[in-house]
Amino acid sequence: MVDAVAATMDDGGVLLVQAGTGTGKSLGYLAPAIAAARDHDKRTVIATATLALQRQLVERDVPAAIGAVSEADVSAAVLKGRGNYICVARLRGRPEDDEQTELDLPAVGGRLERQAAELREWAEETASGDRDDYTNALDPRVWRAVSATGKECVGPSKCPFSDECFSEQAKRSTQEADIVVTNHALLALDALDGATVLPEHDFLIVDEGHELASRVTSTRTEQLGAGSIERANRAARSWLTEGAAEHLTEASEGLEKALLDLPQQRTRFTDLPAELIDALAALRDAAHLAESELTSGADGESRSRADSDDVRRHRAQAALAEIHDIAGRVLAGSAAASPTDVIWFGGDQDPYLYVAPLNVAGVIGGYLQEPSATVLTSATLELGGNFDAVADELGLGDSWQDIDVGSPFDYGQQGILYVASDLPKPGRDGPDPALLERLHDLVVAAGGRSLVLLSSWRAVERVADYLADNPVPDVKVMVQQRGDPVASLVHKFNQDETSVLVGTMSLFQGVDVPGRSCTCVIIDRIPFPRPDDPVLAARAELAEQSGSDGFMSVSMPRAALLLAQGSGRLIRTDSDRGVVAVLDPRLRTARYGRYLVESLPAFWPTTDTDAVLAALDRLAREPS
Ligand code: SF4
Repeated sequence: MVDAVAATMDDGGVLLVQAGTGTGKSLGYLAPAIAAARDHDKRTVIATATLALQRQLVERDVPAAIGAVSEADVSAAVLKGRGNYICVARLRGRPEDDEQTELDLPAVGGRLERQAAELREWAEETASGDRDDYTNALDPRVWRAVSATGKECVGPSKCPFSDECFSEQAKRSTQEADIVVTNHALLALDALDGATVLPEHDFLIVDEGHELASRVTSTRTEQLGAGSIERANRAARSWLTEGAAEHLTEASEGLEKALLDLPQQRTRFTDLPAELIDALAALRDAAHLAESELTSGADGESRSRADSDDVRRHRAQAALAEIHDIAGRVLAGSAAASPTDVIWFGGDQDPYLYVAPLNVAGVIGGYLQEPSATVLTSATLELGGNFDAVADELGLGDSWQDIDVGSPFDYGQQGILYVASDLPKPGRDGPDPALLERLHDLVVAAGGRSLVLLSSWRAVERVADYLADNPVPDVKVMVQQRGDPVASLVHKFNQDETSVLVGTMSLFQGVDVPGRSCTCVIIDRIPFPRPDDPVLAARAELAEQSGSDGFMSVSMPRAALLLAQGSGRLIRTDSDRGVVAVLDPRLRTARYGRYLVESLPAFWPTTDTDAVLAALDRLAREPS
């Protein structure tokens, strides 16, 4: 990998690197990046999808690699989005007003008020102001009250607190750094807004590259609902004329009513209903009027230094501009002959209007080809035996090269891929009794030590109930709940060797448990996207219109990626052994089964239930 990355840095271009677990892939790209900084004064930006990997790079891998490779000074710094840091201007201004705006404190009561007080205390002491360094419980609304997004920031040249500003300090530290570690979200902003969010760089490394297209999509996904409009109205109230404020309130109520008149379930629109179009047009105009009132009265904008009132006004202005822009984007998207956006309503449990990009390939593809060299890497870039799906999704055209650097593990010797081909095909009603019984047999044979990855929260409940009604002696069952932090669950699972962890999508990627605690990974069904996923459904339709198979080109790579990620939880070191059990016969019987199996590590395959139960039983009896 080191040679391939170094050659790409020399020759230019885009390289896709599949690097299995245990290959030490971060060293594989850090070594050439450090050498390029030392020998040619070249800067590399490294972007990760997850905070966990960003931390690992900053705290462990980058310092270790610099120590091992470099004979000269090579420096590194980390950069996150502005909204990740405390905004000093808000903190020093009138934070109680911001909290009132964001939290509507009388309505939400004491818990958030307490969190806000604790956070303010921490903000006075922290050296980084970085949200990720804050360890207490934190509701996103509380954080919003003391932070500012890029659009909400009045700008360092105007801000009276720019010298103390945490995000400016972080930005300054990257100006001289040879290696800048950032995240996919910031990369997406850099690509999409044309804004220079990242410092100039020669090389770009995208780790966890399989996630990039989703992160870019999320960054460009926006939502509109009565709550956010009311918040903007409250924030702007002290500068608005009564007429403009009323106009905005009426427009907000109009949108709320139009949304209530829709079927109260998730609905994707190809044509917006007339009532919704009228409500959005009224909202766009009301937000524009309010915004222009704030702009015309903003004498601070012309002063060289803003005061704290100007900072708050700027934030209110940004919130109104956002509402105006989203309403305009939805209206333009629905009127376009060839839509570029997907628009949907979340339903009664999620009463927002959403808009997301139909395709990110056009924007991100060009951006990835801008630096002298770009490397995308992950343990799961190769799907169905090649890199085509990932390259297509990222808009790389034909201009890329690939390499699979393999894995240090002997998957065929260390792991079994068991497909329960005798079970019925999964239905719409969640796990059936035969599946639950088989899952129980596997857990008994493994003596616990199982990670159970399920396709829905309903399946989690069903499996949890079954295991509670049919307890396995000396086995503790831990069940993921919505909103549970994954890290602490995984820690408990790791500590208690015979425990079972039952959960859903976030555990497909977030579990790294080497050793005997994770001897069996059980997957209830092939993790195809939900048929009502609006973005993927629209992308599949688009593929059909251009003559491709929508299912094979959109749903299948997504399922293959998740299945590969889930299966990858089993073997984390060269001494790990165990079974990946897929309780969905389609992996064996369906025409697409082969594509999916080719996306997984090369385990020894079987459908023999007795042999698998015996193997698990043997592993469980081995001395620790
Ligand atoms: S520059 Fe000022 S307004 Fe912007 S984030 Fe920093 S402290 Fe806040």
